[in-house]
Amino acid sequence: MKSQDSQETVSVVIPFYNEADQVGLTLEATEAVLKGTGLDYEILALDDGSRDRTWEVLLDYASRHPGIRLIRLSRNFGKEAALCAGLDQARGDAVIVMDGDLQHPPRYIPEMIALWQEGYQLVEGVKCSRGKESFLSRAAAGLFYGIFRKMSGIQLKNASDFKLLDRQLVDYWKTLPEKDTFFRALTAWMGFRRTSFSFVVDERPTGRSKWGFRKLFRLSVSALTGFSSRPLLLIPTLGSFFLLAFFVLSIQTLINYFRGLAATGFTTVILLQLLIGSLILISLGLIGLYVDSLFREVKARPRYFIAEEYDGGQAIEEKQDEGQAT
Ligand code: UDP
Ligand code: MG
Repeated sequence: MKSQDSQETVSVVIPFYNEADQVGLTLEATEAVLKGTGLDYEILALDDGSRDRTWEVLLDYASRHPGIRLIRLSRNFGKEAALCAGLDQARGDAVIVMDGDLQHPPRYIPEMIALWQEGYQLVEGVKCSRGKESFLSRAAAGLFYGIFRKMSGIQLKNASDFKLLDRQLVDYWKTLPEKDTFFRALTAWMGFRRTSFSFVVDERPTGRSKWGFRKLFRLSVSALTGFSSRPLLLIPTLGSFFLLAFFVLSIQTLINYFRGLAATGFTTVILLQLLIGSLILISLGLIGLYVDSLFREVKARPRYFIAEEYDGGQAIEEKQDEGQAT
C-alpha cells in the first residue's frame, strides 16, 4: 500500500533498554541521515522498560526535535516485543528497524531506501564483520546458527535485525499470531522480494550489550522451538538406536551367562544406566521445551503493554488503515 500522495514516508524503529547515555547520539546520527534523504520520516523510539533515565532523556530530546515519536513499554519485555510494538505503531510506507547503540550504522539507511525504491520489499542487513566480540559470544552464536540451520533450513549466519520492511510486509507481520517472535528468521520466512546489503558493525559508543546469557538462551530456545520440531523427532530416532544397542548387548550378556561368565558385566550395567538415564532426562527436557512454548502460545497473552506515548506532532500522519492504539 503506497501513500496516495506522491511523497513516500519512512519510519525508523529503534528499541532502547537502559541506554540513557546513548539515546542522544543515536537519534542525532539517525536524524541527520534521514534529513539527507529528503523523504518524510518519523523516528519511533521505544523504551523497553528501562530502569535508568532513558525515558526522560527521550522525552527531552523529542520535545526539541519534531518527527520523533516515543513509546514506553510497561516493563522490560525484551527486544523482540519492543520491535513488535514498533512495527505495530509505525506509520511509514517503509519501516526500518535498527539497534539503538549505533552498531547498526544509520549511514546505510540511504542504501536501504534506494533498494526499497527499486522494488525490494525486504532489505536485510548482513554483517560483513561481527565487530568486536568476545571469543565466547562468537562461538555461542556460531553454535546456535549451526543448529538453527540444521533444524529449520534457514541460514542466519551474519544475519541481523537491521532491516527495512515494506508496508505490505509490515501489515502481514501484524497478522502473525505467535506471541514469541524471532524477527530475524520470521521476516525471511515470509518471503516476498528480498535483497540484502552488507554492513560493518560499528563499536558501541557507550554502555555495553544488554543481552545477558539467560536472555540469549531464551531467545535461542524460542527460535528453535518456533521454527523446527525436528528435535522432538530426534527422540524416537535416538530411542530406536539404543534399542538396537540393547539387543546386541543382551545377546552378548546371555551368551556370557550360559558360559558361566556372568557377574563381570557389572560395569556395563552401571554405564548403561547412566547413559539411558541421562538420555531419558534430556528427551523429557526437550519435550518440556515444546510444552513450555505451546503453553505460552496458548495463553496468548499480548506481546507487550504500552505505558506511555509521546507524539510531538509533525511526524507522519496516521493513514486511513488505523494502527491499533492500546
Ligand atoms: N534492547 C531492548 N530490550 C532488551 C535488550 C536490548 O530493547 O531487553 C535493545 C538495546 O537497547 C539495543 C538493541 O536492543 O538498542 C540491541 O541490544 P544490544 O546492543 O544489547 O545487543 P547486541 O548488540 O549485543 O546484540
Ligand atoms: Mg549492540
